[in-house]
Amino acid sequence: MNDILLLKLGEVVLKGLNRKGFEQKLVANVRRRLLPIGNFRVYCMQSTIYVEAQEDSADMDAAFEAVQQVFGVVKVSRAAPCEKDKDAIAKKAIEYLREDMLRAKSFKVESKRSDKSFPLSSIQLSQYVGGELAEAYPGCAVDVHEPELVVNLEVRDLAAYVHAAPVDGAGGMPVGSNGVAVTLLSGGIDSPVSTYMIARRGVRLIPVHFFSFPYTSEQAKEKVIELTRLLTAWCGRMDLEVVPFTHIQEEIRDKCPEEYFTLIMRRFMMRIAERIALDVGAKAIVTGENLGQVASQTMEAMASTQAVLHMPVLQPLVGMDKEEIVRLSRKIGTFDTSILPYEDCCTVFTPRHPRTRPTVAEVEKAEAALDVDALVEEALRGVERIPVRNE
Ligand code: ATP
Ligand code: MG
Repeated sequence: MNDILLLKLGEVVLKGLNRKGFEQKLVANVRRRLLPIGNFRVYCMQSTIYVEAQEDSADMDAAFEAVQQVFGVVKVSRAAPCEKDKDAIAKKAIEYLREDMLRAKSFKVESKRSDKSFPLSSIQLSQYVGGELAEAYPGCAVDVHEPELVVNLEVRDLAAYVHAAPVDGAGGMPVGSNGVAVTLLSGGIDSPVSTYMIARRGVRLIPVHFFSFPYTSEQAKEKVIELTRLLTAWCGRMDLEVVPFTHIQEEIRDKCPEEYFTLIMRRFMMRIAERIALDVGAKAIVTGENLGQVASQTMEAMASTQAVLHMPVLQPLVGMDKEEIVRLSRKIGTFDTSILPYEDCCTVFTPRHPRTRPTVAEVEKAEAALDVDALVEEALRGVERIPVRNE
């Protein structure tokens, strides 16, 4: 018989009236996350989600890792099954919790009994197993008030279960519980992290990448597809929208003053992203911008970029240090791909002396020679949608 997983919900539980809907969304997200791993039964009872393997060959280690990436789950514990007999339960607890018991200074046992035909009450079972554990691990004393370790036992229909100490889940809220946004995904370090952070707030994301072939190579596109794939572990399945950006960049290069290249380019990105957002029902645009990091990330530059928009721009990295962003990027698994050395469209036409404190009027004047609407429509007609799935 296999271990089972118990997932404790986070903010979901606080959501009062929405609670049922949130739980259903979370159960659906856990199911979808486990689909490529094997056949699992997933259901919710008393604010705990249970995951049980439906076949002996199921990879419980992989499932245990995977559910730690589902937003809305705060704690995950793994429980080992044993026979429904007090001595079998005590024996299992002694061997399964060995490391936890050796590490902790104090513990208590809590039992739950959904099989009412079990001969001991919950309290009797806790006392019995607590006594056996205390004897087996004399360095760990019983403390029912402030124990370092809580040993959980459950007597259920098919078996009894002993829980190990829980590990942290991904936190946040279930993806899909808080609407949809478009996320601008470059090949860099920052935008995968900003995507992760907004997904963690329960937002489903549509990644958009601006692609300037042949100035940026086919490999640069593959890199963004790979980053999207890595992000599906957290964000769920996504459709990457790849926008042809070459003609727009060439027009900017040919018709606008060089010091404004980056600012004008960013205004096009925003306009196109907003059109895609309106098309798919998204309500905001997410970017990986970080105040002061590069020339286009001054407050004035951001104002000129956002002046073309009618929806909020979410910039979750705006106040973070680069080291913090890098740490997160490693944690979520995108760092090694982000640092692969393919060029980004921003680096191709970088002005030698970019304007850092522009006024909106100045930038508007600088782009006046362009047929903005026609260029936006042309780019939208060429969008390639690439479905990206987990594994
Ligand atoms: P990143 O590490 O995410 O590339 P960055 O520090 O290089 O960020 P910029 O190049 O100024 O910063 O880009 C700021 C944000 O604009 C990026 O985080 C991303 O959200 C978006 N962006 C930049 N280039 C592209 C692109 N080619 N396609 C889609 N979005 C982009
Ligand atoms: Mg970049």
